[in-house]
Amino acid sequence: MTEIQRIPRTLKDNEAVIQRGLTQVWEVAAALADIREQRQYREAGFKTFEDYCQERWQFNRDYASKLIQGAEVFSNVRDNVNKAVNNLSTRVDKTDIPLPSQEAQTRAVRQATDDPQEQAAVWVQAVEDAGGEQPTAPQIREAAAKVTASKTAPPPAEEPEPAKLCDQFGPLALHLVPLWSRLAEVKEIERVVRDLKKRIKTIAKTEVGSRINTTPVDAGIRAIEQALKLGPPYTECFKCQRKVQGDCNLCRGTGWINESEYSGRRTEGGDRWLKGRE
Ligand SMILES: [Zn+2]
Repeated sequence: MTEIQRIPRTLKDNEAVIQRGLTQVWEVAAALADIREQRQYREAGFKTFEDYCQERWQFNRDYASKLIQGAEVFSNVRDNVNKAVNNLSTRVDKTDIPLPSQEAQTRAVRQATDDPQEQAAVWVQAVEDAGGEQPTAPQIREAAAKVTASKTAPPPAEEPEPAKLCDQFGPLALHLVPLWSRLAEVKEIERVVRDLKKRIKTIAKTEVGSRINTTPVDAGIRAIEQALKLGPPYTECFKCQRKVQGDCNLCRGTGWINESEYSGRRTEGGDRWLKGRE
């Protein structure tokens, strides 16, 4: 009888063995998914995939489907990780980002977002927060909050010198500065609408969204985009020229006009006044 030779290995070697073993979980998941899709469990004599998992491997249905979903997240992260690394100002070694090795990690990523590129961004952020190591599920949730916050936060409001804030023709009157400094909020809403459009298009390509009628969706989004573009202040009222008269029939005493008011009523004299403002 021969004894199993115990070769002394370093911690690094041992951890590499564990790491290799853990990533094989995704190969297991891919095989399970294949068995489910091709209904190979019937060949094995089972009526349902659930019965098969339970009897053949002592997996409950929940575990098998979580693994399969986890494998999807794993490949989303693997396929988008380089792009995510380039987008983040990351301190971790770009060539050595570990990939998810546990189902719980992929579940935390999936709960944060369905978008493959965002999943990779959340993962890279979590790896960075974990100092380049495998992150825990709570670390992933924290990283997801950061990634989402940086995505939805409106661009930092700039506080320019009041007299220097300009529209495209020249400097604005002081009383309009607070109004112009809120234009970023409109831009942010425009971004949200663009994002919504993208998300509806994406889901409409999948089975769950296959019956979404995208024609009225497109028309509605276009209408919103148009309304957002024409609504906000564009320049000063060249008619009352900073006199801000309540009876001005162009700006109604507000001192500002939107883009359609500008292009509908513009005159050479008006443009000259706008460009000559100080
Ligand atoms: Zn006016």
